[in-house]
Amino acid sequence: MSAKNKISCKQDGSPFSPLFDDIYFDTASGFDQSNQVFIEGNDIERKLMAAVKPFTIAETGFGTGLNFLLTLKLYQQLSTSKLLAPLTFISTEKYPLTAEQLKMALACLPVLAEVSSQLTEQYQQAGVNDHAEDTIILKFFNNSVTLVLMLGDSTVALSKLKASEYGLIDAWYLDGFTPSKNPQMWQYSLFEQIARLSKVQASLSTFTISGKVRRSLTKVGFRLNKIKTNGQKKEILTGKFQQSNNNNAGYKIRPTIAKPQQVSIIGGGIASACAAYMLTKNGIKVTLYCKDSQVAQGASNNDIAVIYPLIHQKKDPISAFYQKAFNYAVDFYHDLLEQGYHFDHDWCGLLDVSYKESLEIRQKHFEQGKVWPASLIVSVDKNKASLLAGIKLDNGGLFYPKAGWIAPRELVAQLFAAAKKTNRLRVETNHQISEINQLNDKSWQLVSHNKITTAGVVIICGGAEAIPLNIMKYLPLNPVRGQVTTVKSNSTISALKTVICHKGYLTPVHKKTHCIGATFDKNNLDIQSHDTDDAYNISMLARCLPSLNSWQIDDVIRSKARLRCTTPDHIPLVGAMPDVAAHRQSYAHLSKDKNWRYQQPAPCIDNLYVLTGLGARGLCSAPLLAEILKDDLCGTPYSIDNDMLFNLAPNRFVIRELIKNK
Ligand code: SAM
Repeated sequence: MSAKNKISCKQDGSPFSPLFDDIYFDTASGFDQSNQVFIEGNDIERKLMAAVKPFTIAETGFGTGLNFLLTLKLYQQLSTSKLLAPLTFISTEKYPLTAEQLKMALACLPVLAEVSSQLTEQYQQAGVNDHAEDTIILKFFNNSVTLVLMLGDSTVALSKLKASEYGLIDAWYLDGFTPSKNPQMWQYSLFEQIARLSKVQASLSTFTISGKVRRSLTKVGFRLNKIKTNGQKKEILTGKFQQSNNNNAGYKIRPTIAKPQQVSIIGGGIASACAAYMLTKNGIKVTLYCKDSQVAQGASNNDIAVIYPLIHQKKDPISAFYQKAFNYAVDFYHDLLEQGYHFDHDWCGLLDVSYKESLEIRQKHFEQGKVWPASLIVSVDKNKASLLAGIKLDNGGLFYPKAGWIAPRELVAQLFAAAKKTNRLRVETNHQISEINQLNDKSWQLVSHNKITTAGVVIICGGAEAIPLNIMKYLPLNPVRGQVTTVKSNSTISALKTVICHKGYLTPVHKKTHCIGATFDKNNLDIQSHDTDDAYNISMLARCLPSLNSWQIDDVIRSKARLRCTTPDHIPLVGAMPDVAAHRQSYAHLSKDKNWRYQQPAPCIDNLYVLTGLGARGLCSAPLLAEILKDDLCGTPYSIDNDMLFNLAPNRFVIRELIKNK
């Protein structure tokens, strides 16, 4: 036995390395902890069950093989209910134990005896300790599981690995003693190898939460989460490889930022409320500037707003985003209600009526396409539609069972109340920011009519009212005026049970009224309401759905006109503000070759973010957008894939413009 790989046992039986002054695993809690950190931290059970292609795990520091054995045992258990995809487990080890040492160390884990003996037997036969720089391949369960044990330093071993050999890595177990005791292993070059070999969305987990390790992992493209555990280590680290520049489209890489302690938000509607809620809940202090005397005076000021996703027949980027955002929003609002925050709402479903032939054809296509789950959208004939609506309808339509309506003013107020409860939110009302200027230290000067304040990180959530801000001029946002008409209920229509959509919409009775929406006037900034627009809303409903023709202009109780903030592709924006001039310069060759390979990440204006362009669907999109903003600022993994992220990125327009050679 060489001096360098001596192993001894501590009093509690845990195998211990005198060389690194650290344990291999802790027998008291370590068995569970290894499971929690590596198996659960990488969500291995779900991934193995879902894998249709060979699955590859890689580890730094094989040691006693405990992590491998835990994985092997799980594979064995899962195989009893499903034929699993083959598993390759690659592990590196600079100081391999002898077969005797391995046996001794594993003897204290009788629950793994069956799989341990399979390993130790083959390990002994392979004479592992004699192969100082070799790779040893062992097979388990009729070759379903392959262990590739690469002897040598992790970085050196991984650098020899070809991506084509065993496939790119799906999950990483970063073990290898704590970085303070083994700094040689946790070098930046190791993380470069890990990035080179990772699949997009590969996961990782590790015991260490060292700042240096986190910074290196972030730099190579991982998004990280610190997870609290009840084990000896109070916090562990998990991550996802999401911001890789392996794909040579650097402009899709979102900028990273050290998590700010404090940010300033401009705006007071649903976008600001969701952002403030999400950021304060994640430990960031927020100062919110609202131009009005109260929050929710813009588009979120309506009595009732309908919440449903924008779904096309095909799963195009718009529909994919709204499907995800809608499901997220419904869970988000349910969670808020469960926390005891009350706002008027009704998850009553929404019926998009096929009131003309082209819509009947569209409905047929939805039926035949079978693209969407019935829990999201389902085609119904006129009998079913009438049953769902509670009133007789002359047409069928598309029904969204989870949709409904919410009182947005109340919702926004409750979100701010929940954010205030964290003691991290300060709201400055009557504070209209008219200009924002970057200072030399990259912080911001916020100019209002009677005050100048400063801010480290600024997030513009102000909807249409923020479009005139000097710094917003690079974004293709457009205001669209919409007037909603509130009418009194009557005995015929009060039976309506769902939201009805035609060219506009009609909501079920609430406080003895219904809302009819909405007009659509591009580039009209007028927020006075007009009788002509009420007449338009009423006549549009009468024209599309004559059987619901219940109202005259005299039935109007009130009406309200507000501005939507729209984007050219109908998808909102969230993320760092692009430096448009630098984009044009850095990625100029895209206008000649749209596939030109660019490594450099998107040049963005430091410390400036936007969450805007929510159009008429703010209730649906704001919660998910706020989560993405939180991930941008906290460095945590995104819950959406990279294509969707780029479809939401504020720099997508300048990139598309370059590609179109404009
Ligand atoms: N994963 C192991 C298990 O399941 O038993 C425990 C690993 S133990 C905490 C750390 C291991 O990393 C030790 O076996 C040590 O020899 C190995 N190690 C340390 N530095 C290394 C390096 N630079 N390259 C490869 N392995 C290394």
